[in-house]
Amino acid sequence: MPEYNVTGCGCPEGEGGREPLKRLGWHEYFMSVAHLISRRATCTRGHIGAVIVRDNNILSTGYNGAPAGLPHCNETNCKIYRSTHPDGTVEENCVNTIHAEINAIAQAAKHGVSIRDADIYITASPCIHCLKVLINVGIKTIFYDKPYKIEHIDELLRLSGIRLVQVNVAENTKEQA
Ligand SMILES: [Zn+2]
Ligand SMILES: [Zn+2]
Repeated sequence: MPEYNVTGCGCPEGEGGREPLKRLGWHEYFMSVAHLISRRATCTRGHIGAVIVRDNNILSTGYNGAPAGLPHCNETNCKIYRSTHPDGTVEENCVNTIHAEINAIAQAAKHGVSIRDADIYITASPCIHCLKVLINVGIKTIFYDKPYKIEHIDELLRLSGIRLVQVNVAENTKEQA
């Protein structure tokens, strides 16, 4: 019988005496999945991933990109449009793409999966347009990693009561609002 260095779970340690990997918490787990999913994104403007979760189960996922079967941004180049927010700031977006959150909702709708009272993990905070839809499908808490124009969604967050919580995969969970 070989002698193993037994860790807490009873598994032998990896070769070469490496430290066993730390077990992920639920927030790190789902946010890490969102980051992995973002690597499927095709818009050159940014790569975002989203995971809809209830009771620690993944219900649906999405990343930003062109509608199914249509040319990707990275094949035809993004089609950029400019819009002016009521506070006067001008932003640029790509008209080709569906945002990750909306694609996750579309996937749930397509397969008849209820996402009411679920939470969503997104690699960046939602734009105001996606936030409006997240409110209406009954999402309770939005977990995000990188902030994206959060000042534009302040009022809607306050009025709707939907929670926005930052989860940095490298840091501890922080309450944003
Ligand atoms: Zn694009
Ligand atoms: Zn959006």
